[in-house]
Amino acid sequence: MFEELFTTSTETNLDLAIARRPRKGVIIGAGQVGMACAYSILIQNTLDEMVIVDVNREKLEGEVMDLVHGLPFVEPSLVRAGTLEDGENADIVIVTAGAKQKPGENRLSLVQRNIEIFKNLIPEIVRCSPGAILLIVSNPVDIMTYVSWKLSGLPSSSVIGSGTVLDTARFRYLLAQKLQVDPRSLHAYIIGEHGDSEVPVWSKANIAGMNLLDVHDNNDLTKTAQIDEIFQQVKNAAYEIIQRKGATCYAIGLGVTQIVQAILRNQNRVLTVSSLINGLHGINDVCLSLPAVVNRQGVTRVLNFSLTPTESEQLQRSSQILRQTIQQVNL
Ligand code: NAD
Repeated sequence: MFEELFTTSTETNLDLAIARRPRKGVIIGAGQVGMACAYSILIQNTLDEMVIVDVNREKLEGEVMDLVHGLPFVEPSLVRAGTLEDGENADIVIVTAGAKQKPGENRLSLVQRNIEIFKNLIPEIVRCSPGAILLIVSNPVDIMTYVSWKLSGLPSSSVIGSGTVLDTARFRYLLAQKLQVDPRSLHAYIIGEHGDSEVPVWSKANIAGMNLLDVHDNNDLTKTAQIDEIFQQVKNAAYEIIQRKGATCYAIGLGVTQIVQAILRNQNRVLTVSSLINGLHGINDVCLSLPAVVNRQGVTRVLNFSLTPTESEQLQRSSQILRQTIQQVNL
C-alpha cells in the first residue's frame, strides 16, 4: 500500500533503478571550470561519489582538500582526488582539462593543443569507464565533442558537449533583466557553435508562450538596435569576463550541474547541448547545439523545428565553420 503511495504512475522500472543506484562521476581538470563544476555538483547533491583528476597533482590535492572541508555542511557524498582508475565504472565523466582562452583569443584557436591532450585521455576514459556518458566542456567545445566521439568509439548519444547551454543562460538572463521577468519564465535559445558564429533564435523567444517581439509594454524590445545589442553582449560575454578576471567558471559550473542532473535523474530535459547532427537543417557530420532531449541514455533526440530564412542561413554558416575546422584538425 505504501509503495502505491510513493510510486507515481509515470515512474518506470528504469527510473526506480536509477533512483536507487549510487551515482558515480569523474571530473577531469581541477582548474577554474572543473572546480566550479565540482562545487556546484557537491552543493546540489548531484553525485554520491566524485573523483577529481588532474595532471597537476599538487594543485589537485589542494583543491580537493579545500572542497572536502565543506562536506559537513552538505548531504553526504564521497569526494576524492584520484586517477581515472579510481573513477572506474563511473556513470558520467566530465572533461574540463586543457588549454583555455587568453585575453582576446577565440575558442577555435585552442583546437590542436586540446586535441593532443584528448588523444591520450579519451581512450583511457573509455577503458576505465566503458559505460559512462562523456560530458565535454573543454573548448572549442563543439570540435572537442566531435573529436571525443571519434576517439571513444562510443555511440554519438553518449558523447555530449556543454555546447550553448551557457550562452542560452546568458541570453535568458540578459533578456529577463531587460524585460523585468524571472529568467525561468522566459524561453529563448542560442544554437550552433559555442563561439563567435552562434545564432540567437529570436523567432522562438517567448515569455510564457508569447513571442518576445510581440510583447509591447514599457520594456518594448522591438527596436532592432536593442535586440542586436543584447545578442552582442551574449556573444562577447566570455571575452569581457576573461579580460577582467582571466576565466569564466561559475555559470558554466551551474550549467554543467543541470546537464548532469538531466542525465543521472533521467529527466528528458530539453537543453541546448552539443551533439552529433546528421540530417537536421541540412547539417551533417558535425557537433553543434540544437535543443535536444537529455536523459540517462545521453542525447536521445534532437528536436526538429522551423527557423526563419535568416536564422537558417546563420546556422548553416556556423556549421560550415565547424566542419572546416574538423577537416583541418590532425586526429
Ligand atoms: P584551467 O587552466 O584553470 O584548468 C585546466 C586544468 O586542466 C589544469 O588544472 C590542468 O592541469 C588540467 N589538465 C591539463 N591536461 C590534463 C590532462 N591530460 N589530464 C588531467 N588534467 C589536465 O582552465 P579552466 O579555466 O578550468 O578552463 C578549462 C577548459 O574549459 C578550457 O578549455 C576553457 O576554454 C573551457 N571552458 C569551457 C566553457 C564552456 O562553456 N564549454 C566555459 C568556460 C571554459
